[in-house]
Amino acid sequence: AVFDRVNPDVFLVGQKPLMPRHRCAHKGNMGHVLVVGGDLGFSGAARMAGEAALRVGAGLVSIATRSEHAGLMNLNRPELMCRGVESEADLLPLLDKANVVALGPGLGQKEWGRTLFGAVLRSEKPMVVDADGLNLLASAPMGKSCWILTPHPGEAGRLLHSSAQSVERDRFSAVSAIRAAYGGIAVLKGAGTLIASDSRIAVSTTGNPGMASGGMGDVLSGVIAGLIAQGLDVQEAAEQGVFLHGRAADLAAARDGERGLLATDLLPFLKQLVN
Ligand code: AMP
Ligand code: MG
Repeated sequence: AVFDRVNPDVFLVGQKPLMPRHRCAHKGNMGHVLVVGGDLGFSGAARMAGEAALRVGAGLVSIATRSEHAGLMNLNRPELMCRGVESEADLLPLLDKANVVALGPGLGQKEWGRTLFGAVLRSEKPMVVDADGLNLLASAPMGKSCWILTPHPGEAGRLLHSSAQSVERDRFSAVSAIRAAYGGIAVLKGAGTLIASDSRIAVSTTGNPGMASGGMGDVLSGVIAGLIAQGLDVQEAAEQGVFLHGRAADLAAARDGERGLLATDLLPFLKQLVN
């Protein structure tokens, strides 16, 4: 309610229960998420995004990653289908089977990442773009209506060709400017994450400073993609995804504290929250 006084268009996100899973559901109609990322040295990012998508209920999750990582990435999580891809031709059959893409976790900005980035952008699939996906986008701006961009203030600064400091000075203007420039849904992460769509700017009050640790953003990408896979539209998936991600972190912190919270600590709580 306090936000109403700031801006009457601001909407406070609350949890909306997901549709009960149909008794006849099968993995083929619960959606197939494709995570594209995990350049050398960053395999964990893609793995965490994939695992988060599974934990919110996606039917299938594939990860397109560096060949060097494919065999190891699903260690202790064999439900993940990990494929080595080195070219656009390797990626296309995987893209074909997916109904949503999480583009960017650990993607890097080298030739390998650029090639996959370009190939995914040429597809019409709904996509969540994060991390180096956003950094690559900032260097060659374009618009799309079926994507969700999830920058933290640093990435938002690059998307707007300004700085993290100026983004943080007026987060509402920044998130609106990103949406205006790039289309789709813009999510400006950080305490009080803002989600801008064509109808409103939503604020999520879930989340805590324990989330200031590596991998949290990768988990968010997977959560949002996993919700799209199950039929939520991009706006609902972004708003609910941010809410659930923060709430999972709050539950994890309530159990044993904020300091030392790990991104993977959220996974069991995500499962709890979507049921
Ligand atoms: P990233 O920087 O991409 O790893 O994303 C960090 C994630 O943690 C985002 O979803 C942020 O909104 C969240 N986060 C980080 N710090 C805080 C904080 N102090 N309060 C609430 N959420 C936070
Ligand atoms: Mg990040």
